[in-house]
Amino acid sequence: MYSEYFGEYIKILKVRSLKKGLGATTSYLAYCLDAGVIEGAIVVKATEHCKPEAVVARNSEELRATIGTKWVTIPLIDAIIDALRIERMDKVAIIGTPCQCQAIRDIKEYPMQLGDIFERITMIVGLFCMGSFTQDGFKTMLERKFGITLPEIVKADIKADKFVVYLRNGKIKELPIDEVKGDIKFACLSCDDFTAKSADISFGNAGSSNGWRSAIVRDESVLNLLSAAADAGYLEYRPLEQDGITEIEKMARDKAARAAQFK
Ligand code: SF4
Repeated sequence: MYSEYFGEYIKILKVRSLKKGLGATTSYLAYCLDAGVIEGAIVVKATEHCKPEAVVARNSEELRATIGTKWVTIPLIDAIIDALRIERMDKVAIIGTPCQCQAIRDIKEYPMQLGDIFERITMIVGLFCMGSFTQDGFKTMLERKFGITLPEIVKADIKADKFVVYLRNGKIKELPIDEVKGDIKFACLSCDDFTAKSADISFGNAGSSNGWRSAIVRDESVLNLLSAAADAGYLEYRPLEQDGITEIEKMARDKAARAAQFK
């Protein structure tokens, strides 16, 4: 099937982790690691001061240490090359934003004399994305708009039309998404891919709630893996309801409309 907003896909699901402390994306990847489907997963991890860095998780525990949305993007391609030159892994998953997934897909299709490095990426996992910040931009936005500093937050998220920040002290602060829109990276304003159309599977909060995550599956082998992960007790999944699909489409349409203004 094809959709302007989802790209080529075979199923739209909602997925929920059955592993304590893990989200749907992490549970899926944990199964892939534990079952030996992949030897490593390249993920972005927030360091002590919320600064992102790309790391290779080799097992569920290392993956667990990377949980949470990072609102600052980093140059992932260099990190992948560095990681795969050091790690002799032949089956690696990469988790990234739509722009990162597209870049990896392009390099896989048009290799740039990098040897077999990108052939070793056997699965591309995308994350829904409305925009990201520079490290300084994120810090300044938190201070200016929320009156908090970077080390005070545990995570940040988009819920419907709100930007929500979860603090270490248990409090939650939120603002209408429109109020932080002006702080995202300029390059993001012309980006029209919300669902990571070049990924084998994409996950996101939009369209789902109560611990469920929406998932757009674009590869039959990924569907088989989800089924195996469910059989092994890592996660459960169901078809996403039409309301959820409509919500994702709306966010994707809004992002495309924003991009059209900046192109
Ligand atoms: S909005 Fe687009 S360019 Fe910006 S981080 Fe997300 S996918 Fe990348």
